[in-house]
Amino acid sequence: MVKSNILKIKKRISAACSKINTAPNTVTIVAVSKGRAPEQIDEAIEAGIIDIGENRIQESLIKYNAIRNTQYAQRIKWHMVGHLQTNKVKAAVKIFGLIQSVDSARLAFQINKQAARINKIQDILMEINTSGEVSKFGIKPDDAVKVIKEIAQFKNISIKGLMTVAPVVDNAERARLYFRKLRVLLEEVNAMRITQYPIQILSMGMTDDFEVAIEEGSNMLRLGRAIFDGL
Ligand SMILES: *Cc1c(COP(=O)(O)O)cnc(C)c1O
Repeated sequence: MVKSNILKIKKRISAACSKINTAPNTVTIVAVSKGRAPEQIDEAIEAGIIDIGENRIQESLIKYNAIRNTQYAQRIKWHMVGHLQTNKVKAAVKIFGLIQSVDSARLAFQINKQAARINKIQDILMEINTSGEVSKFGIKPDDAVKVIKEIAQFKNISIKGLMTVAPVVDNAERARLYFRKLRVLLEEVNAMRITQYPIQILSMGMTDDFEVAIEEGSNMLRLGRAIFDGL
């Protein structure tokens, strides 16, 4: 089931990529496994998934420990995609390869501190609230450059790119504007040379809108239902 879902997703990724002349293997699929049983995650891993996204620290620790002693453990990269509270940063830095939901300099300060303690350079994405919806986390686009400049100073953090959660819309086309906003912001940040190297990851696109996201430059999709429930 999960395996055939992933095959279908890959076909659709390929089709979207060919529209814009990009290679499908430049698009990373992060399987967002909130609320899914460990066996379902195993199925995804067996089907070739290596990137796993989690929303909550408590739940991810349980899954991390369940998978830690299996043959897969080395292969897996854990992504934090949900809101991260500062008091959970210590645990987060221990397990996540990429923290996608950094939405303030205050949070980044804590991440930097905990990463320094264990001698880690923590890869992060900046979460941007491209739609401005009050229900959403993320930095306001207008504040993004200022906050990224601050965070770029932290020695134990490496900013890899930007992430956004588009609004729920009835037609994926309506999300296009927000994806485009994120891509333009990434280009701006790179043009200003805020980070030492160009940042490259654009984490955008979920089950209902991933093709539009790819057309707007996404190279990291966060997929939950498409993988575990089917398209
Ligand atoms: C749940 C979740 C996803 C996956 O959503 P689907 O619509 O199930 O693909 C992606 N990103 C974040 C931040 C999520 O919380």
